[in-house]
Amino acid sequence: MKYFKETLYDSVCQEYRVDKLYFEHKTEHQHLVIFHNAMLGRVMTLDGIVQTTEVDEFIYHEMLTHLPIFAHGDVKKVLIIGGGDGAMLREVLKHSDVEVTQVEIDQAVIDMSKEFLPNHSQGAFDNPRATIIIRDGLEFVRDCEDTFDVIISDGTDPIGPGEALFSEEYYSHCRNRLNKGGILVTQNGVPFFQITEVTNTYQRLGLCFKDATFYSASVPTYFGGIMTFAWGTNDSNVRRTSLETLRTRYKESGLNTRYYNPEIHQAAFVLPQYVLDALSKTEHG
Ligand code: SAM
Repeated sequence: MKYFKETLYDSVCQEYRVDKLYFEHKTEHQHLVIFHNAMLGRVMTLDGIVQTTEVDEFIYHEMLTHLPIFAHGDVKKVLIIGGGDGAMLREVLKHSDVEVTQVEIDQAVIDMSKEFLPNHSQGAFDNPRATIIIRDGLEFVRDCEDTFDVIISDGTDPIGPGEALFSEEYYSHCRNRLNKGGILVTQNGVPFFQITEVTNTYQRLGLCFKDATFYSASVPTYFGGIMTFAWGTNDSNVRRTSLETLRTRYKESGLNTRYYNPEIHQAAFVLPQYVLDALSKTEHG
């Protein structure tokens, strides 16, 4: 394979030179490829779509972990759905007193990420505070009796196995798995090219949570501008945590971050007009 062509959109595709191919195989659930590119480092793709690269993964993973955890302020238990590359687990475990349960559908993604994408997990899968379960995320939240302070949904696009993680059924089960004041955050696509993914989630999340909205960040290898992260909670105050409080929590945590800071945390909830216009035309709650 000389070049990898991403197949997310019919008429536009990004091409990546494959400088070294580490792994390519059809797993039980998906077509998994891991390769090295001179500019992006190691890259993982699933079913023809770029999932993560070494050069910019920190943006995505810091915004889906530290933002809800610092907003909440007293997180003890986190559930990660998906996240087979291990970087989400790595970031959550930086919060020293947090226990994590991760539910990933595809064992091969974890195994090959450990072997060919080690900088993502950095040993997080072997951390005694982590419990790893191989199962479909929807089934898990439906059948599970445990509860969590934060749920992070780090699935693939709403195609194939990832589709279930964008359903109202999934969001309502997640709500039932949250402790009082708990927060659900999910990856939710690039609004400029995937606005329906945003409006669908807004409509469905609004049926499950009092406070349902989005925040955003630009992840360079997710083509098309800002990426949205969905936010759902029944505690309407937690999104309004003051800058002063966020600064104190961030300082006390001792975390060194490369993208996240308390100021960008607050700014991230400010959405562009075209997104607000699309949401204002969408039934909600
Ligand atoms: N950052 C990526 C994105 O935004 O598209 C997501 C990366 S992460 C590797 C996606 C993970 O979700 C994969 O490991 C995949 O196997 C997992 N996954 C997909 N559908 C799932 C499901 N229904 N339940 C649990 N994990 C799932």
